[in-house]
Amino acid sequence: MEFEWLNSRIADETIELVLLFNEEGSILYGNQTAAARLEYDKDKLTKCSMSQIFRQDFPNSPDGFITFVKKSMKGVSEMAMYRSNNSCFSVNVRIFPEDEIDAYLLLAEDISAQKNMNMRIRELKEKEKENNRARNEFTANVTHELRTPVNGIKGHVLELLEEIEEPDQKKTLDIILSCCDNMYSIINDVLDFAKLESGKFVIDEKPFDFQEMMDKVIATHSAVVNKKELRMSVDIDEKIPRALIGDELRLTQILNNLLSNAIKFTTVGFVNVVVGMTRRVNDEVELFFMVRDSGIGISEKEQDRLFQSFSQVDASITRRFGGTGLGLAITKQLVEMMHGDIHVESEKGKGSTFSFSVKLKSEQVLDDKQSQVLVNWSEYVKEESGQNVDRLMHFGEAENREELKKRMDKLVLSIEMGAWDKAELLASTIKTLIESGDDDLKRQVLRMEMAIRKSNYDKSMDMYGRLKDAITERIGDLWNAE
Ligand code: ADP
Repeated sequence: MEFEWLNSRIADETIELVLLFNEEGSILYGNQTAAARLEYDKDKLTKCSMSQIFRQDFPNSPDGFITFVKKSMKGVSEMAMYRSNNSCFSVNVRIFPEDEIDAYLLLAEDISAQKNMNMRIRELKEKEKENNRARNEFTANVTHELRTPVNGIKGHVLELLEEIEEPDQKKTLDIILSCCDNMYSIINDVLDFAKLESGKFVIDEKPFDFQEMMDKVIATHSAVVNKKELRMSVDIDEKIPRALIGDELRLTQILNNLLSNAIKFTTVGFVNVVVGMTRRVNDEVELFFMVRDSGIGISEKEQDRLFQSFSQVDASITRRFGGTGLGLAITKQLVEMMHGDIHVESEKGKGSTFSFSVKLKSEQVLDDKQSQVLVNWSEYVKEESGQNVDRLMHFGEAENREELKKRMDKLVLSIEMGAWDKAELLASTIKTLIESGDDDLKRQVLRMEMAIRKSNYDKSMDMYGRLKDAITERIGDLWNAE
């Protein structure tokens, strides 16, 4: 045929190894590439048998050989080909029957380079994992050891504070104390991060009082919120059972991270916490949290990097606000360990909303009929994001009146029970609710707040009564309204 020479040229030049063999396993033809890669002269190759070249794969017995050939015709098989010097390399093999000449055509692609590369990558990954493990272990040990001297300094400063009278010296000691606290929280962040990275972090599930936990979280931040004159409101779904089972400490940590960021990056306006229950099935409860602020906001581009470790939106932030850039990376991992998700919605200059879900267990198990998916998570976000916190802030309007009554009732109960932290928190929310009222009213609430801060029962009750009268005078009796 006119182009026969072309076929043999292609067969010789192709990078695949080409072998033609018969039913007995004798090689009838080998192309140039096969001869070169197997290190045989071309004519010597045709004196070899298939079970010699494929000594691991092709069986020696005639029956076994042909069964194996037929089985291998189904697709691509990975095999080893042996060179004349007995070394071998990996190939991907395809076999086709050539019925006209009672033979089989074998095409083999050398994959040893690719396999070596994969092996090398695996080795490098293993090595990197080992290095990371060693680094994380080192970091965990060092940071753990650092806690002891920081505690030591703090203990001695506290002792000195009791002895020293001089105001300037007291102030210096206070600064040292707050530096110790900062250092302690950085150490804790680094320690948590190292533990999370090395997979040594475990969630410790125990029964806890959800309402009490939320009160504690809010109380932790109320002093800074007051100092910065921000409005803080908290909205917790009343359907959430109080008795839950989960890692209270880590849930607190997540909320504290988000709240302290919200407060840190907000100079005017509000910080708002919303907690809803989105799902309750048998003993499982899915809670949904939102922490909103009217602070500096985060641009879309910056939001992408937010949950990565050591990421701060820009270097000037570190100088202005401090921080390690680990908080959100830890938060994200903790949320995921509680089978949840975390998201951010934000606009530069307009504030941010961080929302996350977690799954906890409820002590009260519901039967199938009572179990329900309450709200779709994304619908919940949409619904809540559309709400304006300021809506509650217009003194005397329907929603504000309702909220005010609720808080005032809780406040009197807290004063009666001597729950001063809670009372202080409630007083601070009441203050924000009557913010658009007149100056006299505002002074009234401040006086009440002072009495509560001093844990003075009589004065607090007296001021509570006066505030109640003042509110009634302005917007009518909320307690006996029709
Ligand atoms: P850090 O410990 O440094 O605060 P985080 O991981 O908690 O680290 O936060 C990373 C960065 O994300 C912060 O430095 C800040 O730039 C940005 N950020 C986080 N929360 C907010 C927020 N509520 N408003 C504006 N920027 C925020």
